Amino acid sequence: MKEKNWTGTLLSFASRCRGKMILSVICAVISVFGGLVPYFGVYKIIILFIEAQPTGGQILFWAAVSLGGHMVKILFHTISTILSHISAYTVLENIRLRIAEKLMHAPLGTVLNETVGKMKNIIIDRVETIEIPLAHVIPELFSNLLLPIAVFVYLCTIDWRMALAALVTVPIAGISVVLMMRNFNKQYNDYMEASNHVNSVIVEYTEGIEVIKAFNQSTTSYEKFSKAVNAFKDYTLEWFNSTWGMMNFTVAVLPSSLLGTVPIGMALYLNGSLTPAAFTMCIILSLGIVAPLMKFSIFVNDAKAMEYAIKDADKLLNLPALRNEKTPVTLSNYDVTFNNVRFSYNEKQKDHVLSDVSINMPQNSFSALIGPSGGGKSTMARLIARFWDVNSGSITIGGVDIRQIPLSQLLKIVSFVTQDNFLFNCSLKENIRLGNPKATDEEVYEAAKAAKCDTFIARLDKGYDTPAGEAGKRLSGGEKQRIAIARAILKNAPIVILDEASAFIDPENEEKIQKSISALVKDKTLLVIAHRLSTVKNAGQIILLDKGQVVQTGTHEALLNTNSLYANMWKAHINAKSWTAAGGHAREVIKHA
Ligand code: ADP
Repeated sequence: MKEKNWTGTLLSFASRCRGKMILSVICAVISVFGGLVPYFGVYKIIILFIEAQPTGGQILFWAAVSLGGHMVKILFHTISTILSHISAYTVLENIRLRIAEKLMHAPLGTVLNETVGKMKNIIIDRVETIEIPLAHVIPELFSNLLLPIAVFVYLCTIDWRMALAALVTVPIAGISVVLMMRNFNKQYNDYMEASNHVNSVIVEYTEGIEVIKAFNQSTTSYEKFSKAVNAFKDYTLEWFNSTWGMMNFTVAVLPSSLLGTVPIGMALYLNGSLTPAAFTMCIILSLGIVAPLMKFSIFVNDAKAMEYAIKDADKLLNLPALRNEKTPVTLSNYDVTFNNVRFSYNEKQKDHVLSDVSINMPQNSFSALIGPSGGGKSTMARLIARFWDVNSGSITIGGVDIRQIPLSQLLKIVSFVTQDNFLFNCSLKENIRLGNPKATDEEVYEAAKAAKCDTFIARLDKGYDTPAGEAGKRLSGGEKQRIAIARAILKNAPIVILDEASAFIDPENEEKIQKSISALVKDKTLLVIAHRLSTVKNAGQIILLDKGQVVQTGTHEALLNTNSLYANMWKAHINAKSWTAAGGHAREVIKHA
């Protein structure tokens, strides 16, 4: 892909605040000229002292003019800065909103493949780095560029030779800056890579702290962590060390314009071509000519930071978008059908994750998806919710290709209860209500009851009003999944996909989840990814998936008699059950199965 110019991208975000940005620049220019007035006032006062006997009134007049100029400078600088800050935050808002919008329209799977740390880093931290340069570059770049030019022009009107003398240090400092910056791009790139590496190690270390502790890996993990931090410190110091000499030289030489103006001014004064007043004025002005240029070194760094931030944001903004039809379609039924579906997550996967999958799940039926781990069960379920689009073949609902159904309509008719039962940072009641924001409290309680949540919620101090964060720590995985099921019951979508929580297999939870599933499925097209076979016994259709292919479909009895893979899985399941229930409950548990 052709890389876009980052400044173009930046400006495209600024289109909404173009007027304010232009006004900010105009104010900055007025402020610069206001800043020149005191120089002029002082010049006039010096002339008065040298050439005549000044009166108090004259001095006061020029002092007032100088003060007025200074006030104009401050006032317009303030207005310019306020406007540039409003513009900067508008740009930040635009970038963040555009990324959020993009994430909504990109394939969900692609979004989920990105780590939370990376997303947060780009959307919050990287984008934030744009604010300071953007809010300050506009007024300061202009004043720092315009001021020396204006002073230089003014100096020329007094004496052009003195104007040139004021610039004597610029070429010397220029050479040292060029030497210092010759590897800047590469060094900045390496610096960003080192910074990204240390970021990812820190995120890994903090997110994995539980596992690190559980496996007593604190020493090795801490070593990796501290190595990354130290390597970053070493790299940064080495880079700074390599430039410190030149940097100090530049900082010392560049503002020393007196090196040129004093000897040349003296010579001109001695040969009678420069008046003492003009000489003094040139000395004063020359001091103001170079200092603003120093600020450019900061802008170079800031501009690089902006470039990297915009490029990172652009990566998210360039995520592929799913085709999204606008017009809702009328569906005659909610049969879900796979027609010769092939799919792989990326080109690198040689074998398709799903190959030639054809299956029909009629409305009002319960289908169960089973098979060895990695066989493609979750993939099949995700494709129905359009986390990704199929590579070839099609998935239809009521005979209509799901790519023809607007995403918002699809999301309304499909409920997907996954294993990652995310609870939002609000009360449990509101978490359930997310299924249907218009639902009354009574409807929420009813759904919770049907999903067998009411007893454990009642045990919490604040009941349904318990914040999810507080409750989250005290809820088991199974309980969290039941909350997600309550949410889906409330949503009441005609198609329900449930990725059964495999990690929580205590018999009590299992029974409750079974009951909540039956509350969920009345009159629906239900697909359950079953990790335990007890769930699937009652399914109208069991789909056995292995290595991305449908091996067989049928009822429990039919498969038990005809399919050895299923028969073996069932045997293993029964054994596991009796093993779990060792200690007297074995018979009862098998009966249960
Ligand atoms: P199952 O649910 O049957 O355990 P999955 O559908 O999760 O199987 O996985 C099928 C195959 O696809 C596996 O080989 C897995 O490694 C791969 N896979 C799953 N998710 C992704 C993903 N997000 N990106 C790339 N490959 C994936």
